[in-house]
Amino acid sequence: MLNQKVQKTRLELFMLSVEQTRKRLEEEIQLTNSIVLNIDEAYDYAISQDIISPIDFPSFDQSAMDGYAFRIADLQKHTQLEITGEEQAGDTTEKAILKEGCAYRIFTGAKIPLGADTVVMQEKTLRIDNLLSILDADLKIGLNIRLLGSQTKIGETVVTKGTRITPGTASLLAGLGLNTISVYQKPTITILTTGKELVQPGQSIQSGQIYESNSFALIHALNAIGIKPKEIQWVDDTLKATSKSIEQALIDSDVIILTGGVSVGDYDFVLPALQQNGVTQLVHKVQQKPGKPFYAGKKDAKFIFGLPGNPASVLTCFYMYVLPSLKKMMGFSQSNLPTIYMPLQASYKKKSGLTHFLKALVQEHSVELLDHQESYKMNSFAIANALVEIDSAITELAQGDLVKTHLLYV
Ligand code: AMP
Ligand code: MG
Repeated sequence: MLNQKVQKTRLELFMLSVEQTRKRLEEEIQLTNSIVLNIDEAYDYAISQDIISPIDFPSFDQSAMDGYAFRIADLQKHTQLEITGEEQAGDTTEKAILKEGCAYRIFTGAKIPLGADTVVMQEKTLRIDNLLSILDADLKIGLNIRLLGSQTKIGETVVTKGTRITPGTASLLAGLGLNTISVYQKPTITILTTGKELVQPGQSIQSGQIYESNSFALIHALNAIGIKPKEIQWVDDTLKATSKSIEQALIDSDVIILTGGVSVGDYDFVLPALQQNGVTQLVHKVQQKPGKPFYAGKKDAKFIFGLPGNPASVLTCFYMYVLPSLKKMMGFSQSNLPTIYMPLQASYKKKSGLTHFLKALVQEHSVELLDHQESYKMNSFAIANALVEIDSAITELAQGDLVKTHLLYV
């Protein structure tokens, strides 16, 4: 018993820690090439160049309200102003000139006439025919005027390289008149699922067989970052079949994600097959649970991830290692899942030596560690919205202790 324990501790010493694994991957990742896309096609890409504004925004002094434009100093001499003109949004004629004692009818987004310095909102006025009384007690110069360049000045850097294009970014850039943008390409990906026991869902099954579910998890997780895998293939548990599929996938894709067959069983052929194909190992085995046999390798600029076959290990390793690597490749300056510290809903105990990644549910004020954490079970993952990371050295946490919580879906 004691011997077994010593042997286990020794094995863990040879493994990389979670942090070492993250660092190792980060060091090796290379950026994809840039491409130019229309802004409406660029959702969720990362920008590959700083964006300099080609214009001032707004490009003219603009009314922020439907109301009347006038000169505030005129109110000292005039109790009523004469309405002498109108400016509508979109009027492109020369700027109107406001005479002393006069006001212009104006609408949101319209050009401010020359000489006007304030806009009063329609609701705070009284208009009788062409005469206007202003009822606003809180007037001050510049009220309800959006000044030229008050959002962005021409030549200003508006977004930096590595920024994720969100609906907000798209609106900002389009508003500055840009219709295309330079972004980092998404890598092409082949998914290879290994395992003689696997049967496609929807088909009949015999005792000893199981339904293949890992590719479905990966397809969904990749879809969430806008990637449609190029190939999804099943591979038999033989060295020849595994090696051949890897050889083809290395030609077809920038990244290969394998599931299963990365352990040391007699029918685990992923490692020797990768070796046969000249792939250099970067990581194999990490001090973590689940997902201990995780593998990562590289051939030229191509990346290969070998995820342990159990479905919860697949998704855990995907979110902790594959996703950040893909996002780094795609140029995102923020490549990890968003992480927050949340108080535990209940205490938790574990042995030291391995970092635990626990399927969890973030609620408003705390995080709940779900039942069914075993790596073959997916009923916890199916309802989880987060993975809680508990460091290898920690053995005990009390209710209310803050834990590192990686948010899965934002
Ligand atoms: P392996 O890493 O190949 O030893 O597989 C570990 C466990 O995960 C075994 O119980 C496999 O049957 C299961 N497994 C492997 N691949 C898949 C898959 N694609 N879908 C569902 N379960 C799998
Ligand atoms: Mg297997």
